[in-house]
Amino acid sequence: MSALLEVENLTKHYPVKKGIVLARQVGTVRAVDGVSFRIERGETLAIVGESGCGKSTTARLVLRLIEPTGGTVRFDGLEVSGAALRTLRRRVQVVFQDPYASLNPRLRVADTIAEPMEVHGIGTAESRAARVKELLGLVGLAPFHAQRYPHEFSGGQRQRIGIARALAVQPELIICDEPVSALDVSIQAQVVNLLKDLQRRFGLSYLFIAHDLAVVHHMADRVAVMYLGQIVETAPKRAIFDAPMHPYTRALLSAIPHPDPRRRGMVKPIGGDVPSPMNPPSGCRFHTRCPFAQDRCKAEMPELRDLAPGHRVACHFAETLPAHISVAENGMS
Ligand code: SF4
Ligand code: MG
Repeated sequence: MSALLEVENLTKHYPVKKGIVLARQVGTVRAVDGVSFRIERGETLAIVGESGCGKSTTARLVLRLIEPTGGTVRFDGLEVSGAALRTLRRRVQVVFQDPYASLNPRLRVADTIAEPMEVHGIGTAESRAARVKELLGLVGLAPFHAQRYPHEFSGGQRQRIGIARALAVQPELIICDEPVSALDVSIQAQVVNLLKDLQRRFGLSYLFIAHDLAVVHHMADRVAVMYLGQIVETAPKRAIFDAPMHPYTRALLSAIPHPDPRRRGMVKPIGGDVPSPMNPPSGCRFHTRCPFAQDRCKAEMPELRDLAPGHRVACHFAETLPAHISVAENGMS
């Protein structure tokens, strides 16, 4: 059976132009540059990386909210284009980062949640109203909330409304673009647990975009680490956290503050700034920040290679680098 979602060589390049009358192209922003991954049914793939690495652009390309420069997206074995796009719009839903910006302030919650059903011609006004109450229950909100407006809710409640709206048309895949980053830490766990509970009940798959590794550790089955528009490492969650192989993944993990202050000196935050995705570094894009970089790294771009079952790494020297930073040292459990 094919995977639920198969993304191959997905690319988004933006030309950068200068001049008004005779604009000439002065560069190319390689926002997403040859990204491939699969998501199986019932699975959560987390894409993680620093801001600006292309995670959200990848999500928008999969949803066809923006047109890719190249590559293919297959959903349930069918290439997404033309007629298949309408199916995708129902079977794949999205939960955005900012629960304040993603709900229409003029719409009552009932209308917000019912909107996707209306768009896809599902049910009657009466059956949709009943379904709204059911959906509110699924996300832990009482039915009377249906008549209220977004400003009457807290951030966590608004994100629950966003999730109810995503569930309304019974999707198989939900793309979550930093769904808890705008919420207080105390609320984050509740929303993450809700997403996991809904996954068990409905067999949902998630593409979970995040920069917070603690949240990824709770949510993911597999993790893909992005750097400057490319996936540099992908593996089952346990392998990423217990035995990361790419220097960038190791740096990300070691940047998490250790809970024991006496041991904080042992881990070094990631050095240097993220280079611009416009005309990115030659060879391995991480070479300007990598403590292990050698001449070959500047000249030759490393391919993603299978180094263990399901564990792919894009680094010329992944096998020969010094022992990895252990889970105990970086404070994750
Ligand atoms: Fe570092 Fe070279 Fe590996 Fe890139 S290829 S991560 S620069 S060692
Ligand atoms: Mg983003």
